[in-house]
Amino acid sequence: MTSTTAAFGQPSDPPTVVGIAGFRGRLIHAGHAEYDHARAVWNGAVDRRPRLIARCIGAADVVAAVRFARDHDLEIAIRGGGHNVAGTAVCDGGIVLDLSAMRGVRVDPVGRRAWVQGGALWGDVDHEAQAHGLATTGGIVSHTGVAGLTLGGGVGWLMRKHGLTVDNLLAADVVTADGTRLRASEHEHPDLFWALRGGGGNFGVVTSFEFRLHPVGPTVLSGPILWDASDVGEVLRFYRDFVRDAPDELGTVVRFGTAPPLPDIPRDLHWRPVVMVGSCYAGPIEAGEKRLRPLRAFRKPLLDLVGPTPYVDFQGAIDSTVVHGWNYYWKSTHLPQLRDDLLDVLAGHAFSCSSPRSYVAMFHLKGAVSRMAEGATAFGNRQASHAITLDAVWRPGEDFGERDTAWSRAFFAALGRFREGVYVNFLGADEHPDRVREAYGDSVYKRLVDVKTTYDPDNVFHHNQNIRPAPKA
Ligand SMILES: Cc1cc2nc3c(=O)[nH]c(=O)nc-3n(C[C@H](O)[C@H](O)[C@H](O)COP(=O)(O)OP(=O)(O)OC[C@H]3O[C@@H](n4cnc5c(N)ncnc54)[C@H](O)[C@@H]3O)c2cc1C
Repeated sequence: MTSTTAAFGQPSDPPTVVGIAGFRGRLIHAGHAEYDHARAVWNGAVDRRPRLIARCIGAADVVAAVRFARDHDLEIAIRGGGHNVAGTAVCDGGIVLDLSAMRGVRVDPVGRRAWVQGGALWGDVDHEAQAHGLATTGGIVSHTGVAGLTLGGGVGWLMRKHGLTVDNLLAADVVTADGTRLRASEHEHPDLFWALRGGGGNFGVVTSFEFRLHPVGPTVLSGPILWDASDVGEVLRFYRDFVRDAPDELGTVVRFGTAPPLPDIPRDLHWRPVVMVGSCYAGPIEAGEKRLRPLRAFRKPLLDLVGPTPYVDFQGAIDSTVVHGWNYYWKSTHLPQLRDDLLDVLAGHAFSCSSPRSYVAMFHLKGAVSRMAEGATAFGNRQASHAITLDAVWRPGEDFGERDTAWSRAFFAALGRFREGVYVNFLGADEHPDRVREAYGDSVYKRLVDVKTTYDPDNVFHHNQNIRPAPKA
């Protein structure tokens, strides 16, 4: 095949023969039957029409596609799992470097390492690693992409014991803006390696990650406990005191919303407003039972589903509550210690959304996350106590969108005086650019600008939560 400009008309143009020199994957454009499926991302509210989707099958394809895009002055979007709520994996009119066919995972059970391709999902990693009783910190939904999640930091059930996902990253293979292939690690391009651990997709296309793994399960004590929404104030105060001294093994996420219609939840509870504390104990079952006893005994929960569960199953347990193609709007912030006045704001706003699918999720950080020095990686605000997302959700055709977007914004505004940074991966599409700086803090952001200026001075990779390079002299 040869490189050709003739391939590029408007996205709606009839099929054209497209070729990229040295590219062996699949090229999809508006004329193809699979175009609409290939341009869709997890958030159905995102509707962009790229000129070309280059579905790569290896690092050489990525190199070819980056060079092609630059030669033809095409905007680039990078797609890993396609999960980002801001929809940055797909652009209008440019080229999508789509890594979704690159989902290979190789595990070394003796050295406790995993090599993961840049389009893999967390379910792929957990499946392979758990075959050896191993895992690393990943997201709490198994259809989330490894690449985007890792490059932003990576919070999950295991982070308080094993650190963020980036704290377990040992190396990455990267294609940079000029099509060069590099390996980044503590010893190879350490500045790039530092920036990749939190700085997002700003520095290149990661074709492969190398992670450290830990013994986990394969059966862990885990599951949610549900209380009626009317108990939210008391539950939150109890929860705050309960997690203050929690061991690193205990990961918790508080979810405010209706009880989803999951198989394990009795039908009479479906759609009932509840406050739910999900737990995962990354240690011996008996020790977890002992630790969780006070929480399980508090105020007679509506439902207690905590029990020994295969870690892989728990990782996929809420997949069906956040379906591809529904519409989503998020606001998010990190929070400091949960003071009473902050808990009052949470209790006052959490249940005033309209859609039964809208929810709030609050991740307990601390533990190993906060023991790593600020600035050791590019992940910001390591001392925050919780990360919260205020998630408006409505299905295509439903009219909750405007009301719950307003709810999410008003809730966020009410949290204003408590805000303490933000997790870059929870930022939505309509954020002020200052929020990217807020995600890192001034000194980390300044260092990220330096690395960006070194590796991507023309801001080729800008369809993301962008860190702009320094202006050219
Ligand atoms: C339902 C849901 C649950 C979530 N749960 C968690 C959670 O538990 N923990 C957590 O930390 N986050 C979580 N997130 C947020 C998640 O980290 C981000 O959405 C992340 O961007 C998803 O990665 P992805 O590869 O699927 O993203 P994509 O949408 O594919 O990509 C997002 C951006 O990442 C960059 N990128 C993607 N792939 C590459 C690559 N190979 N090389 C270079 N850059 C790349 C690009 O800049 C791209 O624009 C969740 C998101 C959703 C929607």
